[in-house]
Amino acid sequence: MSIAENLEQIEERIQKACSAAGRKRDEITLMGVTKFLSADKVEEAYTAGIRCFGESRVKEAAEKFGLFKVSHPIQLHMIGGLQRNKAKTAAPLFDCIQSIDREEIIAELEKHSAEREKPLEVLLELHTGEETKSGFAELDAVFKAAQTVADSKFLKVRGLMTMAPFTQDTQLIRASFRQLVKAQKELESRFPPKENWECLSMGMSNDFEIAVEEGSTMIRIGSLLFKEQ
Ligand SMILES: *Cc1c(COP(=O)(O)O)cnc(C)c1O
Repeated sequence: MSIAENLEQIEERIQKACSAAGRKRDEITLMGVTKFLSADKVEEAYTAGIRCFGESRVKEAAEKFGLFKVSHPIQLHMIGGLQRNKAKTAAPLFDCIQSIDREEIIAELEKHSAEREKPLEVLLELHTGEETKSGFAELDAVFKAAQTVADSKFLKVRGLMTMAPFTQDTQLIRASFRQLVKAQKELESRFPPKENWECLSMGMSNDFEIAVEEGSTMIRIGSLLFKEQ
């Protein structure tokens, strides 16, 4: 199966999930997650129509996308845990950092974003049940982080990100996504305007249809898009 063929099948499933949930397809961005994949795969995904890419390591992303980004109209998002000493490389490279999970990293990104043409977009990552425990564990910590971003000069908050637990139990997955939607509602009322919180990055290869049903505006697909059979 080519990436284009995989994409066609994924698109059909997104459409179905949208219809079932009474949503419009254009409310949802499909990110291609290219971590551990070659530059050839990036090129092939781009040709198939992918315009938003996700990477989980700064060095790998810089190698694959540093030049590619200059000549292609794409969005590059960081979706993996960001180490403090990588903020300097990450701040000019990415359009959005989705994996903001502590105050320290906000300060570090702010420090290195002054030279950017546009503010660096960020999503706050909420831990909602996934095993590796990435993301803020408490809503209070998210509120504090939201304030820190609001007070920053070169960062702009766009919304929230989460990973559901890897499980067959769809109720657990759904509960995880609902927790993110609930946090979004809280943040909209405490930190207006509402538009700042419009991105809900949730849903991966094994749970994107549930995520679409629950209100996701960005699904992050790796294995299903790049599988070879
Ligand atoms: C790897 C990864 C994905 C993609 O996962 P698949 O199950 O391969 O679709 C999405 N989000 C994050 C944060 C990831 O690390």
